[in-house]
Amino acid sequence: MQTMMDALVKEAPGKGLTLKRVPVPQPGIGEVQIKIHKTAICGTDVHIYNWDPWSQQHIRPPMVIGHEYVGEITALGPGVSDYSIGDIVSGEGHIVCGHCRNCRAGNGQWCKFTRSVGVDRDGAFAEYLCIPETNVIRIPANIPEDIVSFFDAYGNATHTATMFDVVGEDVLITGAGPIGMMAVGICRQNGARRIIVTDVNQYRLDIAKQMGAHAVVNLAHDKLEDAMREQGMVEGFDVGLEMSGNGAALNQLLKSMRNGGKVALLGIAGPGTVIDWNDVIFKGLTLQGIYGRKMYETWYKLMAMIEAGLDLSPIITHRFHYTEYEKGFEAMNSGHSGKVILDWTK
Ligand code: NAD
Ligand code: ZN
Repeated sequence: MQTMMDALVKEAPGKGLTLKRVPVPQPGIGEVQIKIHKTAICGTDVHIYNWDPWSQQHIRPPMVIGHEYVGEITALGPGVSDYSIGDIVSGEGHIVCGHCRNCRAGNGQWCKFTRSVGVDRDGAFAEYLCIPETNVIRIPANIPEDIVSFFDAYGNATHTATMFDVVGEDVLITGAGPIGMMAVGICRQNGARRIIVTDVNQYRLDIAKQMGAHAVVNLAHDKLEDAMREQGMVEGFDVGLEMSGNGAALNQLLKSMRNGGKVALLGIAGPGTVIDWNDVIFKGLTLQGIYGRKMYETWYKLMAMIEAGLDLSPIITHRFHYTEYEKGFEAMNSGHSGKVILDWTK
């Protein structure tokens, strides 16, 4: 039995990660061991890599990071009954208490005692990962593993983009990062009338267009109002999806909503972000904060949308072997990237 494995470890406070040998984790009671096939780099991993103020507060080195992955079950801990060795799986990254009011109401995404894979406990940028079987998601054989590797982020996009009815609605998406790009495909598939995406990054807007946006607006030189006029919009957007975390984007979104519009907020706002509350009050807007994925309704929907034909492959821009992880983080830091995938199979 293999006892040591390769893993990307945040060894100590400071920039970067170290590829090193660590012990293979063994599944405890109710846990499964997963042999990782592919992982994807999330914005959170980039924060940890760069050792920004958020990471300095939240990450306790040394630890293995990473939480977007697909792999194969290789061992079952005592008491595991729902999964078998050889199952292709991904996993929900929030490990919740199961006992609090929200957990018992089926709202695990709001558990106050949640612990995150690759943030609060060892993660998936490794040859093996152990998680509770309650968090395991079995993957249908017809979905390509490259796509499954970023289901965690696609789940954020799905949770946000399905929060409000988009059938026949005009949708504004602020931020064409990987999650904004995925939200375009989801809204398009689910019957939105017009989808307009804003960003200041043309590389990313081009992918959003490929995913089905009716118009993309590069705010560095174009105006959202012009695009709305060209698309025949009169009263403003019916549904707004904030996916940038940028305060200016949030304010522009609120100002561009129709009276009575619905807004889902995924982007993590910087400290001290200010909005004009009268945009919310006088327009009668509904604001819904989004965290994680609905446990586990989002997972059902996201797999069903892929099986119904949603193609996320244009979002994959880079593939590397895990030993080339530095190149992967460089691509993510450049902004000229969609999803960056690391291969752990060879
Ligand atoms: P990302 O940082 O890759 O993308 C954000 C995009 O917003 C970038 O392309 C950036 O150029 C763009 N942007 C910057 N200023 C803008 C402006 N004024 N107007 C429009 N766009 C602007 O992020 P991502 O990985 O796609 O994730 C999207 C957001 O969701 C991030 O803020 C992330 O932290 C957040 N997030 C939240 C959760 C949650 O559970 N709430 C989960 C995952 C990610
Ligand atoms: Zn709980």
